[in-house]
Amino acid sequence: MPAYDFRCNSCKRRVSLFYKTYKAYDAASEAGHVCPNCGSSALTRLITRVAVQRPSRDFSKMSSDEMLSVLDGGDTREVGRMMHQLGQDEAIDDPTMQEVAGRLMKGDDPDRIERDLEAQGVDLGDGGGFSGGDDL
Ligand SMILES: [Zn+2]
Repeated sequence: MPAYDFRCNSCKRRVSLFYKTYKAYDAASEAGHVCPNCGSSALTRLITRVAVQRPSRDFSKMSSDEMLSVLDGGDTREVGRMMHQLGQDEAIDDPTMQEVAGRLMKGDDPDRIERDLEAQGVDLGDGGGFSGGDDL
């Protein structure tokens, strides 16, 4: 659930507003956020440190081979971070990676994705695919 911190310019209190969805937040932004303490709409958004925390790697700038090497590494937390970032990044222009990212985020089996890609004639490079690991 998205939560946003504001400073009320009327009563000077810091308030946190919760929204069920980002869409609800957007709608509230257009209508004007209201202070739960005094009812004023003079709220200034506070940017929290958590919101600007950077991921350890910029996966969106990785090549397909680098992405596959992350998958191949078998580090599920690293893979999760990558997929999370890719899921937010609509600028992926490699249709193969779009498919891989989309299927992985749906919980599809990486081995099955790899077999499908190979069946389509996609070269997965010399890493041997997701199920490798001998090179670790
Ligand atoms: Zn207020």
